[in-house]
Amino acid sequence: RRPGELPYQGERFRARTVRVKAPGKVNVSLAVGPLRPDGYHSVASVYLAVSLYEEVAATSTEAPGITVSISPASTLDLDGVDIPLDERNLAYKAAAVMAEMSEKPTGVHLEITKRVPVAGGMGGGSADAAATLLACDALWNSGLSREELAHVAAELGADVPFSLLGGTAVGLGVGDKLSPALAKAQVDWVLVFADYGLSTPDVFRTLDGLRDSEGAEVPEPVEVDPTILQALRNGDPETLSRVLVNDLQRASIALAPQLRDTIGLGEAQGALAGMVSGSGPTVALLARDPGAASVLAEDLTHRGHNAIAVHGPVPGARIISDTLL
Ligand code: ATP
Repeated sequence: RRPGELPYQGERFRARTVRVKAPGKVNVSLAVGPLRPDGYHSVASVYLAVSLYEEVAATSTEAPGITVSISPASTLDLDGVDIPLDERNLAYKAAAVMAEMSEKPTGVHLEITKRVPVAGGMGGGSADAAATLLACDALWNSGLSREELAHVAAELGADVPFSLLGGTAVGLGVGDKLSPALAKAQVDWVLVFADYGLSTPDVFRTLDGLRDSEGAEVPEPVEVDPTILQALRNGDPETLSRVLVNDLQRASIALAPQLRDTIGLGEAQGALAGMVSGSGPTVALLARDPGAASVLAEDLTHRGHNAIAVHGPVPGARIISDTLL
């Protein structure tokens, strides 16, 4: 069967599964501007895609419509975690937009393997959306260019275009104006997961509240510190450790004070620096090299934390298999 042909052989429907993986991210730097009249915040951020991936298997179905399930192969403990499986799910939304843009969409079932913590500040839902866009694009032969896909991605959420793109990128605007950065050297991190989530809007609101009470003028962020990009280009974690910044961190710590202890413990146990990832509560600890990262992850695990070693940059969303059933 050639791509683009209908998934029927004679009268018999043949299901096809396209499996895509898409990375989570850490914000190596994140400057947040004042609350804008439209309710958004401008940001200036350096995104780094890390080796912790979501996977979406999109299977065409003869019955129309979109269904979503979470794979038992998910490595997260999802007990008590709220992931909507209806039209509120970001993967569902991505498939719905792709169906509208494709000439002959079939029904589709999306099975998501969750590895990126939910409401963890690593863009897990956004990675699911990016993976789904790519999977449905292949499944329905939508013929969209990579640029058009990025445009659709931006409409689904500020972090979705980056999960499609991967690597290292500077994000301006609300995070959607992305420019890839040529920084390919590997940097090693230990991620410490929390057993609770933080709502991104709550964290932004808390930051606005803290700033209001201080009465300080907050500048519009317009660029990122070039030292950060240089350190990423050179694979120089020492320099990087001195310039990591996250404006949201103090708001996340105000909501979850124990984050300060986690960062302190990581630094005491050998991390070059630690920070809250995005809106948190995942903590990203910068390590000197892969060996130091695995020793630190093991140490924190022995102390009862849920910690793993990862590295970045890694590529964005890509197809890992395409099978006719
Ligand atoms: P970001 O860093 O982009 O703000 P996050 O990683 O902190 O996002 P997500 O895990 O993407 O947060 O999801 C936040 C909320 O969105 C969840 O609490 C959940 O209710 C809802 N949600 C919608 N779709 C998904 C999905 N596919 N996976 C997980 N949560 C989803």
